Amino acid sequence: MSDSMNGQGGHHRVLILGTGPAGLTAALYAGRAGLEPLVLTGNQPGGQLTITTDVENYPGFVDGIMGPELVEHMRKQAQRFGTIVKDFEQATRVDLGQRPFVVETDGETYTCDTLIAATGASAKLLGLESETLLMGYGVSACATCDGFFFKDKEIVVVGGGDSAMEEAIYLTRFASKVTVVHRREGLRASKIMQERAQKNPKIEWQLNKVVTEILGSQKDGVHAVRLEDTTTGEVTEFSTQGVFMAIGHKPNTDLFADTLDTDDAGYLRVEHPTTRTNVEGVFACGDVMDPSYRQAITAAGTGCQAAIDAERWLEAQE
Ligand code: NAP
Repeated sequence: MSDSMNGQGGHHRVLILGTGPAGLTAALYAGRAGLEPLVLTGNQPGGQLTITTDVENYPGFVDGIMGPELVEHMRKQAQRFGTIVKDFEQATRVDLGQRPFVVETDGETYTCDTLIAATGASAKLLGLESETLLMGYGVSACATCDGFFFKDKEIVVVGGGDSAMEEAIYLTRFASKVTVVHRREGLRASKIMQERAQKNPKIEWQLNKVVTEILGSQKDGVHAVRLEDTTTGEVTEFSTQGVFMAIGHKPNTDLFADTLDTDDAGYLRVEHPTTRTNVEGVFACGDVMDPSYRQAITAAGTGCQAAIDAERWLEAQE
């Protein structure tokens, strides 16, 4: 039994940050290689799949599978091979300048020979003051978490990608009307998702519009948004009782600022086709290093690569 199982921190050959499909697949492979990986889940165990509904494009599940169920399977499978999972333990500082590497959380200090960064990405927000003020009071970035609170209400979904379509469709289960607000005429979403949303009788569209203000209060919730037409500049008030943000994600790299190289969009840079970062012994996988695909299956794939890269690196050191 490693020290950390007794809550004593301790040394690990492989330490993985993140428990989305990338982190858990890395754990599965490292576990099967006999490396007893330690996984810190962070504040959102299971990652983004826990806030999604049906996953229809993860191979192997003919009828689809619920996101939370899929990650739960992955977690159990990783644990079966000796992975130690620390729930809600969040790394607050990493020191990659010394060996072994040091990872601190609130109350624990771990050391490790290799680190796998699978910290994923978080929902982007518009950056409006009213959005921050009303978050949780009519504004949300997670339809599956909060949709239930909008039964028979009118809702706005901001964004034109697959997430926006998925959230809009999901929210029609509760809402009386869902209006998608998108800043351009053309949607970014895949054809199949666009068609599903367009066929849904409860979904309406406000194209070429941006939300410039959310109107409401913490006491009474949201009652409208201010929309600006991106072609004419005209500003209108649009009645709504809820606003769901679905404008993409930003990679979670704060922990590695000044240590790991990132690309222009802020994603961790790896030496393709490997998962090696600029620090030897540190590997990155999943959404934190993937600006273009960001799928559960691609995250799992790079998680597998990261574990194999870490295993080979450890072997080479010996
Ligand atoms: P995304 O594809 O990056 O789309 C973000 C959308 O938000 C775009 O339409 C973008 O507008 C808009 N947007 C970004 N910043 C904005 C701002 N400041 N103000 C107003 N609008 C803004 O992100 P995503 O939809 O989260 O999808 C991410 C990845 O996950 C994609 O690869 C997607 O295929 C995948 N995904 C797949 C599924 C599925 O297959 N079921 C479901 C969810 C996500 P522009 O178009 O003008 O840039």
